[in-house]
Amino acid sequence: MAKIAFYGAVRGVTGSCYLVDTPAGKFLVDCGMFQGEHPEWNREPFGFTPSEIAAVLVTHPHADHTGRLPKLVKEGFEGMIYMPEACRPLSRLVLEDAAHLIAEEAKDALEDPLFDMEDVALAFERVQSVGYHHAIEILPGVTAMFHEAGHVLGSAFISIDMEGRHGGEPGRRIVFSGDIGNDNVPILPDTEVLHKADIVVCEATYGDRVHEGSDVRRADLKACIEATVREQGVLLIPAFSIERTQEVLYEINQILLNDLQTDVPIYLDSPMAIKATQTYRDFKAYLRFDDPVLSDPDRDFFSFPNLRETLSKDESKAINFAPAPKIIIAGSGMMSGGRIMHHLLRYLSKPSTTLLVIGYQAKGTLGRTIQDGANEVRIFGERVNVKAKIKEIHSFSAHGDRDKLTRWLYPTEGGIPKKIILVHGDAEQKIAFKEHLEKELGTEVLIPAFGETIEV
Ligand SMILES: [Zn+2]
Repeated sequence: MAKIAFYGAVRGVTGSCYLVDTPAGKFLVDCGMFQGEHPEWNREPFGFTPSEIAAVLVTHPHADHTGRLPKLVKEGFEGMIYMPEACRPLSRLVLEDAAHLIAEEAKDALEDPLFDMEDVALAFERVQSVGYHHAIEILPGVTAMFHEAGHVLGSAFISIDMEGRHGGEPGRRIVFSGDIGNDNVPILPDTEVLHKADIVVCEATYGDRVHEGSDVRRADLKACIEATVREQGVLLIPAFSIERTQEVLYEINQILLNDLQTDVPIYLDSPMAIKATQTYRDFKAYLRFDDPVLSDPDRDFFSFPNLRETLSKDESKAINFAPAPKIIIAGSGMMSGGRIMHHLLRYLSKPSTTLLVIGYQAKGTLGRTIQDGANEVRIFGERVNVKAKIKEIHSFSAHGDRDKLTRWLYPTEGGIPKKIILVHGDAEQKIAFKEHLEKELGTEVLIPAFGETIEV
């Protein structure tokens, strides 16, 4: 009998880390960082002994799924880390960026950093990239396979087949959803269907919500750009460096090609997003384009005349002196650090500014505070009145909504999973999604607590 123990993404969305304990050995699925309200949880012991873990399977590059890998290696893990091919360069970017931030914070707090660049390098010595649909035996009798999740470039849900024992328990398939992508993502393939699953550990980020249709995405974005140009204002788009930025660039490119004539400059003001965009170019074969112009193999569909990539600090500062109207895309996506903070400090108090929220805002982040309607916020210790218009486009969400997740949970063969275990959601989302799934699928749905073990 195998067991899954839950060491992250159970007290909220972040920190994904699940330990699968089988008779053949132990392995992890994801080893992510806690972000938002409780960064101190990253310093707590894992809850297991890293040297006892034989392997880690990584679903995708986001820090809340990869951010504690260097800590794991630092604390004695000596196994292999498996991840999709394009996940490798993107997660390296994410972890090196995290190491920079951690070093700065540790210096300010006069404490040892959680990990450093050397730990990141050591972790990547253990990384093996894996293609989709290749079976890898991670332990004797335990085989894993990665499948397209359609969440970001290099994202996967993972099926794990455990052989039955002679004369004993039957074989079974456990599936870890990782993060399941939205429908009709402009540049990614659709989420693959679930072929067969006995047990699914499923994310529930938007388990209580139905997104607006993807057709409004471009129209709403176009309206924001038009209003900014008309009002000679500033459009701020806080964007995650991986995926959201590239989707926004693709959509803006489409709008400028087909619908709108303007020379408004668009600043991509994030070194990490600029580097991630290059990785998207390098792994173009994993992307999907519906526009025949942009799918031309000789064309760089992330580049267009209005776009300025501001890599250096000086180039970034020069944006301040550029006259409005202007559009600024910068990280971090939850407004919890990065160059967007400088732009928020400068422009959030101006009524001509539009702040366009296109991603999930975790509790405890500045982005969530603004999204929840705060009139005043603090940025770099300064009080800032929120006078900007706050707009949201949910269909840029990188996560599937309740209906998408429910559809995905119907396997094509073998019937409804016997057990669905909900993780990666706030308590309200998980409870609402559990009720919905029990009604729709009539199967057992569990919500584990931190450190809880469930037999599978
Ligand atoms: Zn993610």
